Amino acid sequence: MAQLYTHASFSLPCLALLALGWALLFHDYLPAAETLTWLGLVLLTLCGRGWHLRWRQTRLDTTPLALLERELFIGVTITSIIWALGVLLYMGRLPDAYRAAMMMLTSLILTGGAIMLFGSRRAFYGAMLPLGLAILFELAQGNEQERIVASMLAGYLFVFLPTLLRRLRRDQAASLYHSFSNANLVAELKVVSEHLKLTSRRDGLTGIANRAHLDHCLAKAWRRCHRAQAPLSLVLLDVDYFKQFNDHYGHQSGDECLQQVAALLAKVPRREDDLAARYGGEEFALLLPCTSMQGALQVAEQVRDALKQIQIPHPKSLVSSQVSCSFGVATLVPDNHFDIADLVQKADAALYQAKHNGRDRIEVALMGKVA
Ligand code: GH3
Ligand code: MG
Ligand code: MG
Repeated sequence: MAQLYTHASFSLPCLALLALGWALLFHDYLPAAETLTWLGLVLLTLCGRGWHLRWRQTRLDTTPLALLERELFIGVTITSIIWALGVLLYMGRLPDAYRAAMMMLTSLILTGGAIMLFGSRRAFYGAMLPLGLAILFELAQGNEQERIVASMLAGYLFVFLPTLLRRLRRDQAASLYHSFSNANLVAELKVVSEHLKLTSRRDGLTGIANRAHLDHCLAKAWRRCHRAQAPLSLVLLDVDYFKQFNDHYGHQSGDECLQQVAALLAKVPRREDDLAARYGGEEFALLLPCTSMQGALQVAEQVRDALKQIQIPHPKSLVSSQVSCSFGVATLVPDNHFDIADLVQKADAALYQAKHNGRDRIEVALMGKVA
């Protein structure tokens, strides 16, 4: 409807110019008073409509569509009636050549109006009926040729144009429907891709980050700490004698145990960039960017204490009566002498050392420039 309003405001000056041209061209055939009255009427109507369109343009968003359509209908119908008046005034008094010109002009005005108003059937008939009937009436009064032209014009105005516009409206509705269904599809795809993004980062069993996401975050943290020359810490931890736990309680209970450890890990890291991940099997990792060795050690201690507090029984463990973990901590300030694999390898070596030294303990890898 807003589009119709824009079209309508564009058509008003064109109609005013046409009316002026019409009055100048045919002024010999009509008394000046009648010409001026008709022209005044046309210009007055067009000015009134122009003013109304400008006033309405700023309120388009808040005006109900039905009201907009009604106003458009009234506007075009009044304009059409005044043009019809012009046809009735002039046509009877014009020579044949000018009658033909007037018929052509009227058909052009009606075709242009119909195309502009195709979105509103009511406005279309409001424009078409008064002026269309007037020209047909005048032609029907003429000679035989004009009567033939009148019947052809009637077919064009009242059969061909409405059919064409009905098809245009139907195609527009179909393309709107398609763009809406495309928009729905895009929204659904967005939701699905968000979901996929999330699930691709999560470990299926424990719900915390998986190895792939850990690798991604590790690379990001490495670059950030490299730029800031800040320490980057990695803690690897492994459940002690987990094979025996599985053998004793069964695989299902083993899964639940891993879930409990993961939940505990997810709670311990505090900073926004810290990340708890399942490294694989019964091994987990804590990524602690901008954290010194002392800080990482503290976090590992917290996890070890928290694990003791939740007291998961493990009668087959050789180091404790409850589930325990061994920890390997590595910290370094990334520079060009090291790469990510060095950090992981050192944390792994420290974890191996913790296992070797009797399990249920934390070992720290010493390397490079640490904070
Ligand atoms: P250590 O103290 O030296 O770490 O001994 P461990 O028994 O924990 O280590 P080992 O590597 O011998 O055994 C790890 C076990 O963890 C074997 C494997 O079946 C089990 N495991 C790995 N992933 C899962 C899992 O997703 N669910 C369960 N229930 N068990 C798992
Ligand atoms: Mg283990
Ligand atoms: Mg292991």
